[in-house]
Amino acid sequence: MTTTKQLLARTYDLATTYLDGVRERRVGSLADYEALLGAMGGALPNAPADPLAIINELAATAERGLVATPGPRHFGFVLGGVLPAALAADWLASAWDQNAFSFVLSPAATVVEEVARQWLTELLGLSPEMSLGIVTGGTMGNFTGLAAGRHALLARAGWDVEEQGLFGAPELPVVTSEESHITIFASLQMLGMGRARVTRVAADEQGRMRADALRSVLSGLSSPALVCAQAGNVNSGAFDPIAEIAPIVHDAGGWLHVDGAFGAWAAASPRLKGLTAGLELADSVSVDAHKWLNVPYDCGFVFVRDVAAHRAAMTLEAPYYAPAPSVARANHNFVPEASRRARGFAVYAALRSLGRDGLAELVERCSRLAKRMAVRLAAEPGVRILNDVVLNQVLVRFDARDGLDEDATTAAVIRRVQQDGTCWVGGTTWKGMHVMRVSVSNWSTTEEDIDRSADAIVRAASAVAD
Ligand SMILES: *Cc1c(COP(=O)(O)O)cnc(C)c1O
Repeated sequence: MTTTKQLLARTYDLATTYLDGVRERRVGSLADYEALLGAMGGALPNAPADPLAIINELAATAERGLVATPGPRHFGFVLGGVLPAALAADWLASAWDQNAFSFVLSPAATVVEEVARQWLTELLGLSPEMSLGIVTGGTMGNFTGLAAGRHALLARAGWDVEEQGLFGAPELPVVTSEESHITIFASLQMLGMGRARVTRVAADEQGRMRADALRSVLSGLSSPALVCAQAGNVNSGAFDPIAEIAPIVHDAGGWLHVDGAFGAWAAASPRLKGLTAGLELADSVSVDAHKWLNVPYDCGFVFVRDVAAHRAAMTLEAPYYAPAPSVARANHNFVPEASRRARGFAVYAALRSLGRDGLAELVERCSRLAKRMAVRLAAEPGVRILNDVVLNQVLVRFDARDGLDEDATTAAVIRRVQQDGTCWVGGTTWKGMHVMRVSVSNWSTTEEDIDRSADAIVRAASAVAD
């Protein structure tokens, strides 16, 4: 049998060989589902197998089903990559097999979350008193922030939602933007507040919630509302005017949740910080770490101003068996899960490896590169940029050609770019149109990557024209 040391040495080789090649490998995967299922599946083996053989086989069969998302030219969705320090810390977290549930299970995993809380609130310009939950990503960040808001608003109305649930509860109005991310609605669906019973506030041409429209919606309500705004529209990157929205929500007695999955990181840059003005006024803020902070999946943050509401919404402890007060943080009080991988180590390593200046530089560089892409593509005939490129997101539309309308032309260009493999971009719907979305969020992307990718997109567009 292989020793653990031999096994991990081989794993180290496989991982570093992959990472050494990730810059030049084709970005998207052309794997066929059935073929991959055939290669990786088959009958469940009866007998144990040697771990070394398993790892070698897994690496060989998974190979063509891998997408080069840690590489510099995957611009699809909003992804990010993995900083070396964060990857290394994540390896250790798995090797140490720490359960981040509580202090008794892992003092180190507990303390590292408190360190992350202190550093992150400072970097994002949030109140140093805000509580932090390290969740699996933006979706759970939204879920947890909205759960805290649900608790607080119903408690003020004399209702204990954790004990009594929502049956017979006082009315709790929920207000979103018409541009709120789908995971806001997914969170509302899981919280028993319904995806469809919300009021959606109109947004402007960049996708920013209109403060005047919010004011008139709230003035028509008879009880305080749970309001969802966003810092960073998933398509355009635009920011809701939070400094205007927050006083409107608070004057009406409501709770303001801000989905800042990727956009909140603008607060870490002195040059871009203005975009997030008012973020510090939010009652809860959700931020992704596995996107722009470039830590491994799955990792995100939720910050809550009313710490008691955060705990009440997430606690596992019934009031009658609350443990004796302790100075130590109990991580599980701030997240939906009990047992958890110790994600705080990768967060700590990412923040240490970048430092305050490096994080600002990362956010500014990606934003500069997004502009570079937009300028380059806009210079081509038949190509239009639809958004103000204020951050890292670019929306591209291709003029109709050869009997194809604009939607079909845009879809055809996207398909060709994906086939080509130099870079990867996806499509999205913007104001009823099919558009190409380019998101620059990876720490390793360079100007040369942008230029190569822009060339590939231009080539694809002219091939569609032929
Ligand atoms: C990605 C994203 C989410 C969801 O985050 P996950 O980490 O994928 O769960 C929510 N809101 C916005 C604006 C996003 O970009």
